[in-house]
Amino acid sequence: MRQVVMYAPGDVRVDDRDDPRIIDPTDAVIRLTAACICGSDLWPYRGVEPVDHTPMGHEYVGIVEEVGAEVTTVKPGDFVVGSFVISDNTCEICRSGYQSHCVNRTFVSQIGTQAEKARIPWADGTLVATPGMPDPALVPSLLTASDVLGTGWFGAIAADAAPGKTVAVVGDGAVGLMAVLAAKELGAERIIAMSRNPARQALAREYGATDIVEERGDAGVARIRELTNGLGAHSVVEAVGTQEATMQAIGATRPGGHIGYVGVNYEVQIPGIAAFFSGVHAHGGPAPVRRFLPDLVDRIWRHEIDPGRVFDLELPLEEAAEGYRAMDERRSIKVLLHP
Ligand SMILES: [Zn+2]
Repeated sequence: MRQVVMYAPGDVRVDDRDDPRIIDPTDAVIRLTAACICGSDLWPYRGVEPVDHTPMGHEYVGIVEEVGAEVTTVKPGDFVVGSFVISDNTCEICRSGYQSHCVNRTFVSQIGTQAEKARIPWADGTLVATPGMPDPALVPSLLTASDVLGTGWFGAIAADAAPGKTVAVVGDGAVGLMAVLAAKELGAERIIAMSRNPARQALAREYGATDIVEERGDAGVARIRELTNGLGAHSVVEAVGTQEATMQAIGATRPGGHIGYVGVNYEVQIPGIAAFFSGVHAHGGPAPVRRFLPDLVDRIWRHEIDPGRVFDLELPLEEAAEGYRAMDERRSIKVLLHP
C-alpha cells in the first residue's frame, strides 16, 4: 500500500509499505476513504517534534475490510469513523469519559493513517460505524469527527460552553473553527472568534461567531474585556498552543470562568502567580473524541452540522507534500487527502 512518510522535517514522501494485517483478535483493518493533514502534523514538519522516517496521519474514515475474532461492533463492509487515540472503551478511565487517556492507549499518529489502509487496534473501543454508506458529500464532515471536530467540541465542553454564556475562541485554525461550531451547538449566547484572516472570520461567522476580535496578546485581552463589561468571557477555548495564545486565554477569562485548552502547547510556561490570581478553571489535553463520536456522527448524518467545510484543499494522497506546504504556509486551513 501507499503511505505518507516524513523522512525529516520538511521532507514528506509517499512510500510503498506492507499492507497491514490483523495481529490481535481485537483489531480491524480498514481501507481509508479519506485522510487529512492536522495542524499538529506541522510540529514535526517544522522540526519542533523529532521525526525520522515516520509514517504520518491520525485522522481517518474508511471501510472495514477485516476484523479479529473478538470484534463485535463493526464488521467488514461497515463505514467507520475512528478517534485519533486508540482506546478499549472499557477500562475505568474510558468509562469515566477519558478515552484519550485509556490504560491501553495508542496514539493513531504511531500507526499513520495518511495511507491506503490501517490496522486499528481495539476496534470496538475506537471505531464507530455510520448507519449506512455515506453520501460522498458527507465524508469530509465525518472525517472531521475523527479529530478536529471532536477536539473543538471537547474544548467547548472543557470551557463549559452553555446557554447564556459568552464563549471566546483563541485560534482560527480548524480546531478553533470547530470550537465555534461546538459553542453554537451547545447553546452559547455570544461567541467571540479571535482571527485576523478574512476567510477564516467568514467561516467562523457561518459557524456561529457573533463577534470577531482581530487584536492579539494584551490588546486581544483588553478587547474581550471591553466586549464583556470589563469582566472577561465565561468560557475561553485555547486552540493554538503558543505562549501568547495561552496567556491571552487566561487573561480573557472572567474569575470563576472556564478555559478549555486543546492546542498542543509544547513550550508554554504559565507563571504560577498568573494562574493563582486568575481564579479560572482550566481543563484540556488530548480530546477524548471517542466519548463524543456517536453523537457527532449522528448530528452529521442528520445534516445538523456541516463541519467538513474546514477543508479548503483536497489532494490525492500522492501529493501529500504539497498539502503540508499549503498548511505550513497557511494557504490552507485544512487539507483532505484522497488515498
Ligand atoms: Zn480504556
